[in-house]
Amino acid sequence: MRRPIMTSAAFLSQPSALATRNDGKVAQDLLDTLAAHANECVGMAANMIGIAKQVIVFDDNGTARAMFNPRITAQSEPYRTREGCLSLIGERETTRYRRITVAFDDMTFAHRSEDFAGWTAQIIQHEIDHCNGIVI
Ligand SMILES: [Zn+2]
Repeated sequence: MRRPIMTSAAFLSQPSALATRNDGKVAQDLLDTLAAHANECVGMAANMIGIAKQVIVFDDNGTARAMFNPRITAQSEPYRTREGCLSLIGERETTRYRRITVAFDDMTFAHRSEDFAGWTAQIIQHEIDHCNGIVI
């Protein structure tokens, strides 16, 4: 179900709790809300729809994917860039990494680890920041 976008900086600056296997609906609502904003948004975290759980969705080269409890376990090739956010007005500067390894739980709550690079890696880093209460 499509959900309204949370824009409260006070809410968004709080770290989210670990997700559990009962949070599948949160992931589906995020996927639905991302699809509804596909023309202006490439990723979302659950706190952006008002749910402070560690769930993210992102565009992976044309396919929308969800992750629970994502953690970056390796990163390399830092660069400076500017990013916007559906929850915020304007853009902010930040450091990202061209290559990352992410550990996460998948839709069946199996634990996985996967490498990402480039644009997809940048989206994931932005959404993991949201899970940690970092707003960029
Ligand atoms: Zn954002």
